[in-house]
Amino acid sequence: MKSLLMHSPVAIAFGWIWAYIFITLLPLLILLIYPPLSGRGFWIDFSVALGFIALAMMALQFALTARINRIEASYGVDIILQFHRYISLVAFTFVLIHPLILFVVQPETLQLLNIFTAPWRAKMAVSATLALIALVVTTVWRQQLNIPYEPWRTAHGVLAVLTVGLGLGHAIGVGNYLGLFWKAVLWTAIALVALWLLVYVRLVKPWLMLKKPYLVEEVRPERGDVWTLALRPRGHKGFQFQPGQFAWITLEISPFRMREHPFSMSSNGDNLEKIEFSIKALGDFTKTIKDVPPGTKAFLDGPYGVFTTDRYEDTAGFVLIAGGIGITPMISMLTTHAERKDERPYLLIYASKTWEDITFREELDELKEKLDLNVVHVLREPPEDWPGETGYVDKELLQRYIPKRRATRQYFICASPKMMDQVEIALHQLEVPPMNIHMEHFNLV
Ligand SMILES: Cc1cc2nc3c(=O)[nH]c(=O)nc-3n(C[C@H](O)[C@H](O)[C@H](O)COP(=O)(O)OP(=O)(O)OC[C@H]3O[C@@H](n4cnc5c(N)ncnc54)[C@H](O)[C@@H]3O)c2cc1C
Repeated sequence: MKSLLMHSPVAIAFGWIWAYIFITLLPLLILLIYPPLSGRGFWIDFSVALGFIALAMMALQFALTARINRIEASYGVDIILQFHRYISLVAFTFVLIHPLILFVVQPETLQLLNIFTAPWRAKMAVSATLALIALVVTTVWRQQLNIPYEPWRTAHGVLAVLTVGLGLGHAIGVGNYLGLFWKAVLWTAIALVALWLLVYVRLVKPWLMLKKPYLVEEVRPERGDVWTLALRPRGHKGFQFQPGQFAWITLEISPFRMREHPFSMSSNGDNLEKIEFSIKALGDFTKTIKDVPPGTKAFLDGPYGVFTTDRYEDTAGFVLIAGGIGITPMISMLTTHAERKDERPYLLIYASKTWEDITFREELDELKEKLDLNVVHVLREPPEDWPGETGYVDKELLQRYIPKRRATRQYFICASPKMMDQVEIALHQLEVPPMNIHMEHFNLV
């Protein structure tokens, strides 16, 4: 019983949080056990503590973005990336407060800002802070600054390495607090792990992907300017996935180039021989999918994500709410469960622009024959004689269809950010338990 509790997903999720807090506070713990001999007073020690915590937090950012399956399986990529974003702002604040305290308590330290006369340790601190400011500004205002995703991602990696590397150099340079053996061991270990994660993400993982290529079998047009890319594993068994999960795809070019895009699988998760992605032509990369010739090499990094009905084996039924291309994880869930001959009820509320635009319209009709499935189409621009639902998916519409005993279902939402927010609020108002609501955001960054 005890070991079952220890291995439950909730216990594991809490375990990671404790591990995070422990590693972040470890430098302070060692500082408390072996206090520096300087006796420089509370405020200086406090400022140093903030610096150490910020450095540990920034080193841990490499772990948060390394797509480590075990961590990711506890929360889902979007939650981890949210955390990565918010915690970086906390670390950023600590980094700024760290020298400010010094400047107030010991105004003579302001001289350290003069990069011509300052010692190396101070030059490193200033450069690390500048790299961090550039990192935060280009990330928070990426869209406003019109920075395309791929150059941004490369710059993000370079700036992150610079920030942590220079920060560490600064800490070692100051030495006063790192002189002790255990402190030096700790920071060397943190630096080595961060370095390993970088090597793993940029070299080891792409190398593993290179050994398991896929070939494009066909590119099929679907309704709504969507193209289905069907891939077959070449020389290996492929992978099984839980319907609703996603993978990062690299097409044609080597996986060492960082040109990968995340897409939900739209096919049956239990079929290892063929894996399909349905992609809406929206931007630079997605508009090229229709022209990808059969035989093109593809590389996959996945599966990822916790947006899947498979995590809720004991639930009595499901409510799926999709808008536009948000249908892809849902069609995978429905197809997989139809093949598994699942007898539970499924309700799909599906918002599209027009009747002609409805991606997988015919496939959904076929699925109704195999599953206990009720599909409610909601059209924004309906034809004149349309007898069905129109407009937006709001509280009133949801109330008409979702079961009275709300807690008997799990609710999955995937749509535009605006629709997802509105549907989530409406479900809360309808007293759907928050733990039963699951969302997949297609706009990670
Ligand atoms: C978990 C998840 C599942 C998804 N599933 C699907 C799906 O099944 N079908 C589908 O059509 N779309 C899906 N998307 C969205 C898809 O990844 C983006 O539309 C696509 O990467 C945009 O690339 P682009 O170059 O065509 O667009 P652009 O117009 O160049 O970029 C538009 C925006 O997309 C984002 N983006 C661009 N490149 C990347 C990248 N390499 N990685 C991450 N984000 C990027 C950026 O925010 C960018 O501002 C999914 C996204 C996520 C996060």
